[in-house]
Amino acid sequence: MRSFIGLGANLGNRKQNIERALLEIAALNCTKIIKVSSLIETLPVGGPTNQGKYLNGVVEIETGLKPEELLEALQLIEIKLKRVRKIPNGPRTIDLDILLYGKKKIKTKKLQIPHPRMSERYFVMKPLLEIAPLIGRVLEELGD
Ligand code: ADP
Ligand code: MG
Repeated sequence: MRSFIGLGANLGNRKQNIERALLEIAALNCTKIIKVSSLIETLPVGGPTNQGKYLNGVVEIETGLKPEELLEALQLIEIKLKRVRKIPNGPRTIDLDILLYGKKKIKTKKLQIPHPRMSERYFVMKPLLEIAPLIGRVLEELGD
């Protein structure tokens, strides 16, 4: 299935964290990278006021993993890159979010796809539209 993953980092060497995450994603079972967006610098949304700017991007993948398997794999990568979950919306070495998974809609406790409020978020939509200019139609269909 075609899927888009949001990449974010605002701690440590942000570019390196994202590059490492991309290498890990490329190494996942039954998964290949199709396209990677440019990385943009954005101001943090929510969370503590003094946290640093983010580097954000989006990667398009083709994967044989099911959505839940993909989420689990991405969370393992977050742990591998030493992400520590403390404050909600707080600083993080890496944040990997499943934005879209084909045209699938999921709403469970653990997983919501399309990712909540993604259409309103510049740091998601700017890189996403760069690599998938027609994605707006899919989002409309899904009613995000
Ligand atoms: P943030 O909302 O800032 O990305 P986290 O990365 O800590 O916060 O994620 C919190 C929880 O969000 C995860 O434990 C995961 O179960 C849940 N979640 C729900 N939908 C998604 C999704 N589409 N992609 C990634 N995580 C998701
Ligand atoms: Mg996340």
